[in-house]
Amino acid sequence: MKSTIMVNIAGPMFGLSLLLLGIGILAATKVQQQQRVNADLITREVNALLAVEELYIVVRDIRHELNLYLRTREPRSLDNIAGYIRSAKEPMELAKQLARTKTESQLISNVESGYQDFLTRFNEIVSDETHAERDQSLAELNDQFLESRIFAPIRRCIGHNRDIVERTIQAGTSTANQMRIGFLLLGITGSIAGLVFGLGIARAITRSFVQLDVSVRSVSGKLKGISPPVQISHIGDLQGLDFNIRQLEGEIGEVVERLQRRELEVLRGEQLAVVGQLAAGVAHELRNPLMPVKVLVQSAIEKGDAGALRGAELQIVNDEIQRLEKSIQAFLDFARPPVLESVRAEIQEIIRRAVDLIATHAIRKQVTLELEMPQQPVFCLVDGPQLRQVLLNLFLNSFDAMQQGGRIHVRLSEINEPWAETVSLQDALRIRNSAHTDSIEITVTDSGPGFAQDMLAHVFEPFVTTKETGTGLGLSICERIITAHGGTILARNASTGGAEFVIRIPHRI
Ligand code: ADP
Repeated sequence: MKSTIMVNIAGPMFGLSLLLLGIGILAATKVQQQQRVNADLITREVNALLAVEELYIVVRDIRHELNLYLRTREPRSLDNIAGYIRSAKEPMELAKQLARTKTESQLISNVESGYQDFLTRFNEIVSDETHAERDQSLAELNDQFLESRIFAPIRRCIGHNRDIVERTIQAGTSTANQMRIGFLLLGITGSIAGLVFGLGIARAITRSFVQLDVSVRSVSGKLKGISPPVQISHIGDLQGLDFNIRQLEGEIGEVVERLQRRELEVLRGEQLAVVGQLAAGVAHELRNPLMPVKVLVQSAIEKGDAGALRGAELQIVNDEIQRLEKSIQAFLDFARPPVLESVRAEIQEIIRRAVDLIATHAIRKQVTLELEMPQQPVFCLVDGPQLRQVLLNLFLNSFDAMQQGGRIHVRLSEINEPWAETVSLQDALRIRNSAHTDSIEITVTDSGPGFAQDMLAHVFEPFVTTKETGTGLGLSICERIITAHGGTILARNASTGGAEFVIRIPHRI
């Protein structure tokens, strides 16, 4: 529930944030790449421009020295020119290397060829020609050659390089502008989307509050019959809802307390009823055998010395005393809740010992005992003597029901059915984890008349008996012992007509 709400509310928000983050990272990477390319381009073009400008300065110095020589005829100027010619080599090479476009390379190559021609011509003039011709030739070289073949291409080259640098800077500026607009749009879109989602989430939460409010109203309505109605304030108001829930909480607490008190009262009432029932049962069961004893004893008193009890009369007194003892034992068993001393025991052994104890009785009563048990020993955690007591009770009841003799069939089996309702959760888990069968089942079936239909639903209730001398406690004690084992016992009429008891005990070993 909580995770569904989180997914519903935070999911789209998270998705949108991821999308915006992705776009942002992509755009930033693109800008960085573009800037790096632009910076490289500008650096290269600026270096090329510097190289060409340096070349321009060297050539200008050469022209200056040439003019100086033509004015002063100072040979040192010619030496200086030779020095300048050497220093022009480096910027020339650099300009060639840095030339990027075809035009740039063409222009540099023009400058280079003009420069080479100038050098060749200058060297020829300086080394071969006579003084008078040399001056004339150098003047011509200065006037015509330098301007047209070197300065003009260098200026074109500088202009071209400046154009490139400017264009590159402009391209960088326009990219930056585009990015600025892009980021602005991204920011605006993100804010609008955040606003829309925020509103959506706010509406969803409000709707949840409304639903919660309605639930609170509904619970409040249900409590109305038990406690005063809860006042619900404005729907969707968080503080109001909080107040309502607190109020409802208080009401529920009060109702629960009242219910607990009532439950205790009912329990006490039930206990008193059971005690009353028990007292009535005890009085009835003790008074019945006492009656013949009292009559016999009173008549003996009345007869004086001649009225001593003997023979059949003493037998009656003895029988009634035994009946009293039996009843008192049954009451004690009933009054004492069974305390189990469970041990791992073989169930076949317990059944066999119970059967042995009533074997002679069975022969006398002409009852045949049949056992149907697995060959393999079935072990289970049980209180052996108490389980045996249960079986004995069932057998004795069957003897009572089959006055003309009959048959008692005892079957032991292992059952693989989960204990959903009868076993506590811990027990169910323990049984499951034990990797054994879920329960053991003992079925006792007799060939007697079975139960009367109206009797069937009440056989396990205390003091329910159809027998003249019965206490009605035997089956009730049996049920308590089996329940203490975490098991169940049920009574039904078998398909063959006799009574059938089915005992199931969780298979703990
Ligand atoms: P009690 O034996 O003192 O009557 P129980 O609690 O043992 O008390 O039995 C309650 C009643 O259940 C019996 O009185 C009898 O009517 C009925 N009952 C028990 N076992 C059988 C049986 N095997 N066949 C028929 N009825 C039975």
